[in-house]
Amino acid sequence: MRLVLVGPPGAGKGTQAQFLAAHYSIPHISTGDIFRANLKAGTPLGVQAQSFMDRGELVADSVTNEMVKDRLTHDDVANGFILDGFPRNVAQAEVLRAILAEKDTPLNAVLEFSLANEEIVTRLSARRTCKDCFQPSVGVDKCPSCGGDVYQREDDKAEVITRRLEVYQDQTAPIISFYRNEGLLITVSALGKVEDITALAISALNRVAQ
Ligand code: AMP
Repeated sequence: MRLVLVGPPGAGKGTQAQFLAAHYSIPHISTGDIFRANLKAGTPLGVQAQSFMDRGELVADSVTNEMVKDRLTHDDVANGFILDGFPRNVAQAEVLRAILAEKDTPLNAVLEFSLANEEIVTRLSARRTCKDCFQPSVGVDKCPSCGGDVYQREDDKAEVITRRLEVYQDQTAPIISFYRNEGLLITVSALGKVEDITALAISALNRVAQ
């Protein structure tokens, strides 16, 4: 299963990606998590990305595309992958299509999680993120997954959320039509219980991509 997840920040892409990755036994590749891991390790890539991330802007395509291209050469993607947070604009979607065409392994589906703006702001303001494994959580001091300390991401603060929503509308939302035209798009509501959304997503995916 080669899958892309699309949706506004806070729609639960990361959470759903974890369950779907476990279900299909394929890696969850989050470009945001890769940037955060680089930031934490103080690598040149992390330093380069930080100011864009803190402002809610996209990191340059040249940097992001190379990072994803490299990640897709790892052995663990042999049976597929879930991309979460990439592509974030039409240019990146075109690059991804070219990378996969070269290997003759096109995408099976693109899963869009839809959510209204008011709900996004409420969710992101309450969200905390694990310093160690980056898992999101709400209302806890320690990460429910690994026990690490949690913090509020700079870009989950109110002033940056507004900018991230604008960036999503202007730059990322156009990839929805791009993938609809490619016949790959499946839309699922991001409202409801996590496990119900996962079940809906899996049944929709099983219909289109065997
Ligand atoms: P996320 O965790 O997916 O919300 O990503 C956090 C931040 O990382 C974004 O606001 C961007 O600054 C950066 N980022 C993640 N994925 C991409 C991408 N595909 N293109 C450019 N920047 C990205």
